[in-house]
Order: sequence, then C-alpha cells, then structure tokens
Amino acid sequence: MSYDPHPIRWIDLVLPHPEDPNRWLTLKADGPFALRSWYYAPGTRTEIRLHLDVRTPEGGLTGCLHCGESPLYTKTVMRWGLVALMALPGAIVAIWSVTFGVLLMMLAGLIGGLLSRRELVCYACGAQHRGFRMHPKHGPFDANLARAK
Ligand SMILES: [Zn+2]
Repeated sequence: MSYDPHPIRWIDLVLPHPEDPNRWLTLKADGPFALRSWYYAPGTRTEIRLHLDVRTPEGGLTGCLHCGESPLYTKTVMRWGLVALMALPGAIVAIWSVTFGVLLMMLAGLIGGLLSRRELVCYACGAQHRGFRMHPKHGPFDANLARAK
C-alpha cells in the first residue's frame, strides 16, 4: 500500500453514451468512494452500472469502472490553451529581446508540462478516468494491446 498525503478532491468519468455511440457523457463525484454503483444516462431512463470492485483502497483502479475490463493505459493531457496563454507575454517580449522572449516561452512550456493532467483510459471501451490515484501504475498506450481488444 502506498501512502499519498494529498486528498482526492474530485473525479471525472467520461463514458460512452449507452444509446448513442457518437456521444460521451461525464460523471463527476467527490472522489472515487463517492461513486454509486449505477446512474441514469442524462436524458434517458437507461441505467449505467459501474464496476466499483476495480477500485483499490488507496483510490486507484485495477480495471475499467465502465466495462470492468483491464488493462488501462495512462494518457497525459496537456493544457495547450493554458500554455498558449502563458507563452503570450514571451512572444510579445521577443519583439524587443528574442533571447529573453524565447526564455519566457520555454518557461511557459515547462509550467504547462507541470500542469498537465494524467488520466486512465480503457483499451476496451475508451472510458476516461480522471482524478484517481496512479497506483497501481498503468503503462502508456500500447498499440499491440489495443489491437488485441
Ligand atoms: Zn472499459
């Protein structure tokens, strides 16, 4: 068991819509243990059942909450809008001093990298799990595993 002193404040689940394969729906909860075992899909009477048994006591996942299957992969999501906003002062400064402007833009990229978030994605159904602990670890996307599904 690993100890992480930082509390989990919220989680997001992005799940395939049960009636429309082209839509996704998002469930939000105050942490992995605030989830119920089922929800209604918004605007429908279709139940979405969650596989809560894949949660670990630390707040991580051993498999997908939506389909119950494993494995999952870890995806890093950059916040490009935020990076572009932070790089803007560097771009303006670069008009007068290229070196200092480029340094400011590199700093913006570095901060953007630190602010990127990681999510767990299911190979089978594509459900995205955000805000969960990263223990147990799931590797990055593996095309061979994706093809096997
Ligand atoms: Zn899944």
